[in-house]
Amino acid sequence: MNPEQSYHDEPFRQEEVDNLYAMASRIVVLSKKCYYVASEMIFGNPYSADADIPPHDCGICPYCRNQILFPSFNRSGVENVFFNAFYPERNYESIAEDIHPWTLDALVKSILSFPDVQRLLFLSNATTPIAPIEIKKVVFTLTIARILQINFHRVLKMTIFALARTSPAVPEFALRDDSFWECIRTK
Ligand SMILES: [Zn+2]
Repeated sequence: MNPEQSYHDEPFRQEEVDNLYAMASRIVVLSKKCYYVASEMIFGNPYSADADIPPHDCGICPYCRNQILFPSFNRSGVENVFFNAFYPERNYESIAEDIHPWTLDALVKSILSFPDVQRLLFLSNATTPIAPIEIKKVVFTLTIARILQINFHRVLKMTIFALARTSPAVPEFALRDDSFWECIRTK
């Protein structure tokens, strides 16, 4: 599992990574529905891709109490901010700058520096500065949706992020593809 170990069992590692993705995606997908009912449907029907959730709610889970764990995104703003974070417009001064690997901290710092970032990401008019954790939730959700791709940087020994393609052979970004947005709450 640890990419730094000398022995690599790639199929096993991939299975573990897929399991982590599946578990993490439950957290994000569940935040669109009553947790209690959705968990019962998902774990009661583990082999059906997307069990239909009946419309009744439990009334006590975070969803039913209106506790928003993962905020709704403004899709066009998220697309704009993340595309420009990874592919900034290069001008005469910046063209010679090193391109830094996008570790989580570097990515969050870059996104925090966007003017008007709260309105772009969440259509929020809040004037207080946005907390880094809110940006991390966006990164987490986009990673679960496979819009962001994670890689391991063997020199830095850290996870780094990139914009995922819709499939390995094509140049289109998952960020711009409707099917990758299905599990994400948008407004
Ligand atoms: Zn509930």
